[in-house]
Amino acid sequence: MNCPHCHRLLYSRQHPRCGHCGGLLPEEMRLAPHEIDEIKAEIREIDARRAKAKEKDEEEREAARRRNDSAGGGTGGGVFG
Ligand SMILES: [Zn+2]
Repeated sequence: MNCPHCHRLLYSRQHPRCGHCGGLLPEEMRLAPHEIDEIKAEIREIDARRAKAKEKDEEEREAARRRNDSAGGGTGGGVFG
């Protein structure tokens, strides 16, 4: 999708104006408010999923470290989940 004014590529259709020349984009080129909401919700979900994955990764690293610390102790219970 290119700007009808400067013909450069539009990197976002969430804004009513072109990011290059500031020209107002025709309504049919813009996203509807509910579509923008959907995109934002999707981005939030991806962020949340990424944060969760990072948390899990750190947890696993911590668990591995603890396993190493208690190597030879022999009192660890195998609880998962
Ligand atoms: Zn433009």
